Amino acid sequence: MVARHDLVTDEEVRAGLLTARRGTAFFARKLGKLSYADMDEPSLLPGWNRRQLIAHVGCNARAVARLVEWAATGVETPMYPDMEYRNREIEFGATLPPIALLNLFDHSAVHLSVEWRDLPDEKWAAEVRTAQGRTVPVSETVWMRTREVWPHAIDLDNGARFTDVPTDVLRRLLTDITGVWATRGNAVALTVTGGPHDGERVGASEDDATEVSGSLPDLVRWASGRVPAGEASGVVFADGSAAPAAPAWI
Ligand code: ZN
Repeated sequence: MVARHDLVTDEEVRAGLLTARRGTAFFARKLGKLSYADMDEPSLLPGWNRRQLIAHVGCNARAVARLVEWAATGVETPMYPDMEYRNREIEFGATLPPIALLNLFDHSAVHLSVEWRDLPDEKWAAEVRTAQGRTVPVSETVWMRTREVWPHAIDLDNGARFTDVPTDVLRRLLTDITGVWATRGNAVALTVTGGPHDGERVGASEDDATEVSGSLPDLVRWASGRVPAGEASGVVFADGSAAPAAPAWI
């Protein structure tokens, strides 16, 4: 019997699935507005054109689906055999004819959605390993996909903005990014101004941390390195002067 609805009952996971699928739909809408010729143009990511970005998002869905299959079957199926494979897959995908590239995106997204839908409730705590070698419950795959599709829709560079991204996704992205900074000794304290998270502090808590503030969308855009050179980020130091480019986090 194939289920026609998600088998998971955990409310938090169900809400996460909704946000992940909305992100995929958001990416698909922006993708649908590109002509085939547009796909050859640069994305917002340095060194990647839109074809490479679309291939990456499609291959990511397949890789995340492998983790869900791992949880379902108990048979270890890593995201990628190795990082070389991951990169080759993207480069190959980027050479596909546009229609095949769009099919890769569509099919991989549907496949992942179905794997999530059909994963029995009791298997959502099963442990799998990410490409970075972290052991996580398979429920973490929902966020792993969410944090790809929403920002990469912006990276398509045809109109999506950080203000289009749900607030809870932005807030969690900021936690992820500042977490990476902390492991590298970059002590930056960010204060959110305006919106539902007004006044919240994210990141370093040391007294000598660098203090910056901005709206949540501006902070995530700045922290994730998506502000083109020469463009105002909207992120400022305590004295109101513009903050320079944020530390790297990838
Ligand atoms: Zn990515």
